[in-house]
Parts: sequence; structure tokens; C-alpha cells
Amino acid sequence: MPVKYKDYYETLGVARDASEDDIKKAFRKLARQYHPDVAKNKKQAEEKFKEINEAYEVLGDSAKRKRYDELGSNWNSGADFRPPPGWESARGGFRGRGPGGEGQEFHFEGTGFSDFFERLFGAARGGSPWTGATRGGGLDQEDLGSAQGQDLEGDILVTLEEAMRGSVRSVSVKRGVPCPQCGGTGRQGARACTTCGGAGQVAKTETCQVKIPAGVTQGQRLRLAGRGEAGVGRGTPGDLYLRVRLAKHPDFEVQDHNLICEANLTPWEAVLGANIAVPTLNGPVNIRIPPGTQNRQKLRLRGRGLPQHGGGAGDLIVLTRIEVPRRISDSERKLWEQLAGESRFNPRS
Ligand SMILES: [Zn+2]
Repeated sequence: MPVKYKDYYETLGVARDASEDDIKKAFRKLARQYHPDVAKNKKQAEEKFKEINEAYEVLGDSAKRKRYDELGSNWNSGADFRPPPGWESARGGFRGRGPGGEGQEFHFEGTGFSDFFERLFGAARGGSPWTGATRGGGLDQEDLGSAQGQDLEGDILVTLEEAMRGSVRSVSVKRGVPCPQCGGTGRQGARACTTCGGAGQVAKTETCQVKIPAGVTQGQRLRLAGRGEAGVGRGTPGDLYLRVRLAKHPDFEVQDHNLICEANLTPWEAVLGANIAVPTLNGPVNIRIPPGTQNRQKLRLRGRGLPQHGGGAGDLIVLTRIEVPRRISDSERKLWEQLAGESRFNPRS
């Protein structure tokens, strides 16, 4: 089951040698345009938003970007993709191991991430404590023909709005189930089962509703009991774990349960104080900028962050950024000159 190559540079509309800053800017611009909250055509925007997020998840992270770049630049978007030899084994297998020793591929839909992403950067890779775990010791001591199914792990893209309010998502998992022909034994009499080729499993797509509770955090695992790979014989199926990856938001950065946003101020707003509107996940609110506000000062709005498990919520931290006009009119210049003559302020004294 080959996956389709994704050209993340193309998705973000940047050159392959774009700087970190250029990538961030490109992402923010697109995310603002396609954010499901603001876009006009919501369905179309949602798909695009997911693609942009996936691309930024990789290109916005220097280690992932390096790894992605190692694939080379000769791939065409949408082409059947097989990683170069040795590329995958360097980080452990993508496949869960079926009881027959044969790899059983699994495949997600509705998580917000493509198979390409899962295969290269997904949760099932890179030393996850769950990957490869054979719970209960694998083989059942009393019945050597039975084994518990393996746990599966994937990623799920969760928007900040979902983390705020909670949601239910429909996720499809294509996975190994006991072969209906041989009941999972892989045998038909003395011969290997013709339906599953002796593996004891066949692929089946199942859709489940995933409850995303309000207050989920980055990296949190949502457990879906019994939705992993099928067991063999009397073995019970494994569980499915979906690892939360919070979608990047054009206005906010997430730090634990706190949200951080930047507020641009004019010099006179910083000096004199002002009332300005700042975004929250529940729409804009007005805040008071106190007189004498400094650049990079943090203003804290308690309880305006993401909800916390067990009650309460994080804060919204407004980080000020004082912008200076690049061009001024003649009359403005006179006023600044007048101020310069009048003021005793000296930041270097
Ligand atoms: Zn069979």
C-alpha cells in the first residue's frame, strides 16, 4: 500500500531553501486565510487547513525538516512514495507486527494527517513506549496458539477550538482482524488458509467515534480500548492510541494551558496607555494597556487560556510589541522633534 508523496514546500508556497522565518510567515498567512473559523467555504478550508498544518508540523521543526529534506527533491507531489532503502529502518518499523511475523499495515482516515506523514513522522515512530509492546507478554502461557493483538498508535490533529470545547471525531482505521475463513488460525486443515495466506488476519476498515475531551494537551494519548490489532486465537485485541497534535493557530502559541498572543502597539499607546482588542478563542476582547507599557511586556488575562483537566483554565498572555512608524509626515516630524527637545527620558543613562 504505497502512500502519496507530499510536497510540503509547495503546500506552504515557499522555496526549499526558505528560512525558518519565511516558513513561519507563510504558514501564518495561509492559516489565517484557511482557518475554519474565518473561512467562507468551511469544508474546503478545513481540508486546506489540515494540509497547511501538516506541512508546518514538518517544515516548522528543524529536525523533521532535515529528515524530510533527506528524501531529496526529486519527488513529485502525489507520486507513489516508498522511502529509500534504509531510511525507515533507521528509526524502527512503521508496521505493527502481525502474529504470523508478517507486517500488518494500518492506515488512518479522519485524523487530519496523511499516511505519508504517519509513515514518516507519525506517533508510531521514534521510541514511543507503546509501539511494539506486546501487552501481557504476548503469548498466552496456557495456550500457545493465542496472542494478544498489538496496540496501534496514530496522530490526531486537534484544533485549539476543539481543545477548548471538546469534540467528537470520526476516525477510520484500516487494520488487521482475524480472518473469517480460518478464524485467525491461519490454517485450513493441514494447509495454510487461502483467504489470509496463513497470516490469520485480513485488513478491515472500521470507523469509530473519538471523543476529544475539552482540555486535551499536546502529546496526550487518547485511548480507544480494543481498537488496535486483533488478537490471535483467544487473545484480545490491542488498543488504539491517538496522540494529540494541537493545530498551529495563526494568532496563538500554546504553552501548557496558556495561550500566548502578540499585541502590536504604537509608541504613544505604550506611553499613554490605551484600550485595544486582542483575540481570544471566544472572540476578541478589549484590554487596557497601562501607561508606560514596555516592549515584550506580558499582560496576563486569567482564565482565558485552554481549559484544564479537572476544572479551571490557563491564561491568555498578551505579549506587547511596540512598532515604530517607518515614515512620518512633516507635521508629525515637528511633533517628534518638539517631544525630543522637551523629554528628559534617556534609556542609556
Ligand atoms: Zn485465514
